[in-house]
Amino acid sequence: MERYRVKPGSHINLEEWDASDAGGLDGGKGSAKDRLEELNEELEELQELLYAEHKRKVLMVLQGMDTSGKDGTIRHVFEGVNPQGVRVASFKVPTRIELDHDYLWRVHQQTPRRGEIVIFNRSHYEDLLVVRVRSLVPPEVWSRRYAHINDFERLLAEEGTTIIKFYLHIDLDEQKERFLARLNEPHKRWKFSLGDLKERKLWPQYMQAYEEVLNRTSTKWAPWYIVPANRKWYRNLMIATILVDTLKGLDMKYPEPEEGLDDVVIE
Ligand code: ADP
Repeated sequence: MERYRVKPGSHINLEEWDASDAGGLDGGKGSAKDRLEELNEELEELQELLYAEHKRKVLMVLQGMDTSGKDGTIRHVFEGVNPQGVRVASFKVPTRIELDHDYLWRVHQQTPRRGEIVIFNRSHYEDLLVVRVRSLVPPEVWSRRYAHINDFERLLAEEGTTIIKFYLHIDLDEQKERFLARLNEPHKRWKFSLGDLKERKLWPQYMQAYEEVLNRTSTKWAPWYIVPANRKWYRNLMIATILVDTLKGLDMKYPEPEEGLDDVVIE
């Protein structure tokens, strides 16, 4: 797991990262499923503890190219977890009102409160990815954002938020397969948009933008993990493992019950 964590100040070249990596587990699909179920149960308990303790906040950021599996990850990793304690915030093309504010305005509103896990399905990193690749603002504007974002995340962390960021790493061949699957299955066609193909053409530019994000915004207080995501079962397993491990590391405790409960008689 540690090998997927981006050390602060790295020089990541994504071409050197194998998107089909399965960590040496082979044909492990059956047992991977069992392991994921165990992790789902652990996550369910940890989420309850987080909620009961009402002290810490957890923010999980999901980024990746189209079809990299952000939605599937949320569905599978959080299976069985109490929906009352988990919230998904999806960041789409900003509205006019959002564009009238600074780019972190809409993001800060969605950050977790005490006892809550929030999953960012896309995030403020779009302001260093699509915004850069599509030249939506000039370079002198987006280039300042690495520092803003590191500071913003430090603020959240110092105020009690545990942040984990996942980049779901697929390669061009895998994306082609997944787009074809969408086209070939009638009930998946709704997910396909011709605009996605325009983004695909910009793959090298996106990889460059991702590399710079990974190299410059993986910090001690908000680390990035590069998750090999060509194999969905391995992607889910890694993300669930890292999440459960991180939550366990928080050493959370149930609140002390009221005194005198041993003598309670319910009539
Ligand atoms: P998804 O692909 O996440 O399932 P959509 O197909 O609606 O959902 O895509 C959301 C789109 O919004 C993406 O193309 C993404 O790049 C875009 N987007 C998100 N944040 C921003 C932003 N800050 N500026 C411009 N576009 C953005």
